[in-house]
Amino acid sequence: LFAGETDFLKGVVAMSGLPPADRVEVCFAGRSNVGKSSLINALTGRKGLARASNTPGRTQEINFFTARDRYIVDLPGYGFANAPVAVVEKWQNLLKQYLSGRQTLRRVFVLIDARHGAKAVDEEIMTLLDKSAVTFQVVMTKIDKVKKGALDDALAKTRKALSKHPAAYPELILTSSEKGEGIPTLRAIIAGIDA
Ligand code: GDP
Repeated sequence: LFAGETDFLKGVVAMSGLPPADRVEVCFAGRSNVGKSSLINALTGRKGLARASNTPGRTQEINFFTARDRYIVDLPGYGFANAPVAVVEKWQNLLKQYLSGRQTLRRVFVLIDARHGAKAVDEEIMTLLDKSAVTFQVVMTKIDKVKKGALDDALAKTRKALSKHPAAYPELILTSSEKGEGIPTLRAIIAGIDA
């Protein structure tokens, strides 16, 4: 499913550039380096589809991909401490407008590194999603990098963070783009979201 069927559509820098809201849309968000590009590439079976590096100076774009009857949307990685304030503000404005105004946006997948669990900046995004009334679901990334005990700690920490967020979908998805774990599950979830 989706493998080889995903194409880059466009990068959007303003609300006026959004493609028509004519299909179910899901979105991927996460801290820089969380493994978002790797996950999107694993999901779509197209290496290099999502750019592997997001640098702070670069234009912050919302990238749209078409995957059959869905849009898959890649939000820029957040959490660059040294990004210029003007860039951060412009980006936050666009993000707020997009999240609150996109009726076909069914779910945001918030990626969290299995080594660290939810951090303060992840909670900020979750709070924004609560305010925007957009359902989000946490995807733990890089689970191949942690031992079971550490994974359990990160899961407990993340579940505790989620309990404070009304827009959170309670079930976490555990993934490793490296090993392919959780990828079929994620594909099935995306394919199964009702229009
Ligand atoms: P992004 O900034 O969120 O798009 O993160 P990338 O996808 O570029 O990944 C950041 C780093 O983590 C890269 O060095 C990847 O090779 C590595 N990485 C991503 N996913 C995994 C994974 O599932 N397992 C392991 N071991 N490394 C991963």
